[in-house]
Amino acid sequence: MQFNPCVKHKLIRDSVRNFAETELAPIAAEIDRTATFPRDVMEKMRPLNYFGLQAPKEFGGAALDSVSAAIVVEELSRVCAAIGLCITVHNGVAVYPFLRFATPEQKKHYLPRLASGEFIGAFSLTEANAGSDAGSVETTAVKNNKEYILNGTKIFVTNGGVCDVALIFALTGFEPGRPQSSVFIVESGYPGFMRGELEDLCGMRANPVSSLFLEDCRVPEKNILGKVGDGMKIGLATLDNGRIGVAAQALGIAQGAFEAAVKYAKERQQFKKPIASLQTIQNYIADMATEIKAARLLLYDACARKDEGAPFGCEASMAKLYCSTVASTVTSLAVQIHGGYGYSKEYDVERYFRDAKVTEIYEGTSEVQRMVIARAVLSQLTF
Ligand SMILES: Cc1cc2nc3c(=O)[nH]c(=O)nc-3n(C[C@H](O)[C@H](O)[C@H](O)COP(=O)(O)OP(=O)(O)OC[C@H]3O[C@@H](n4cnc5c(N)ncnc54)[C@H](O)[C@@H]3O)c2cc1C
Repeated sequence: MQFNPCVKHKLIRDSVRNFAETELAPIAAEIDRTATFPRDVMEKMRPLNYFGLQAPKEFGGAALDSVSAAIVVEELSRVCAAIGLCITVHNGVAVYPFLRFATPEQKKHYLPRLASGEFIGAFSLTEANAGSDAGSVETTAVKNNKEYILNGTKIFVTNGGVCDVALIFALTGFEPGRPQSSVFIVESGYPGFMRGELEDLCGMRANPVSSLFLEDCRVPEKNILGKVGDGMKIGLATLDNGRIGVAAQALGIAQGAFEAAVKYAKERQQFKKPIASLQTIQNYIADMATEIKAARLLLYDACARKDEGAPFGCEASMAKLYCSTVASTVTSLAVQIHGGYGYSKEYDVERYFRDAKVTEIYEGTSEVQRMVIARAVLSQLTF
């Protein structure tokens, strides 16, 4: 594993940072306040290939390695986490399962549209009674000639308010002892597909997270992803990949808050000297820098394993668990370093603090990540 960034990774970081600081920094606080999805800025991301980070070039993607893709999400999230969320969900849990499980016809039809950003993707597993217990999905899909008829309600769908295509997990039958789910590629124009109100969230407010309603929604049989009954297999494999993206997002949030805190500590004078000269503040800054560095190494290790073709689920969970914990700790310290101003919307750290929390919750809570990691460790003699 390489510990120093190669030229390619540095160039990608510089270019995304430049885009984020030019296009996102001026609007990040306002779109958070008004919970607005900035369509015009999303349009500017399309030619930059942010919607097709790891899609092959034949489908119009950028075919990036996993560290490069993580850097893109990290840099967007460093400035505006809600937009980092849109891009990481689109790439990590909407495009990725197409790459892994779609038929050649499905790839030919959907991947160029997804990779170009013409279609925004969503991944829709969670329901009122199916959160951590993803096997408890109640949405049904009943076969009717050459179609499936879907009925149910999905909640907390990232990109839900704007998605053109959503991967919907629905029950298609029962195996002995347990329900069998399948994944459906559902376009927003299909009859019976409806969106709910946007969620009024604590953080990530510029992402249009919403419910999706399926009322006798008619989906062509050819739109099953993978095979009938593959729902759990596809869900778990997709979440392994998505967790790398959430880790990158969390790391970006931590980095943004850290830089803001260092700048503030150098500027803010108390007792006639910058607070950065106080030992306590220096201890905070040292801890933040160390945790961020450790988080970054864990994340890039998971990326490297994925690119080697090695199993990476455990490492992705470790990276997600660690990076999200670091994001919460670092953003909290960043608020602390800002004192009362950190609790005001006048400073970005207040937003970073709210955005960080959900990285410990979605795509598997921290408690679920520990279950995944412990299961992997205990199933091996050595680790
Ligand atoms: C902003 C946002 C965006 C989201 N985007 C998406 C999306 O795009 N697609 C999607 O499908 N979902 C999405 N989600 C849903 C998210 O993945 C779930 O909220 C998450 O998986 C937790 O499920 P839950 O909310 O039902 O909590 P619960 O499962 O009810 O958990 C409540 C608490 O119990 C703990 N717990 C549960 N089971 C166990 C256990 N076995 N052992 C130990 N502790 C346990 C949890 O860790 C948690 O602390 C999103 C959520 C949010 C808030």
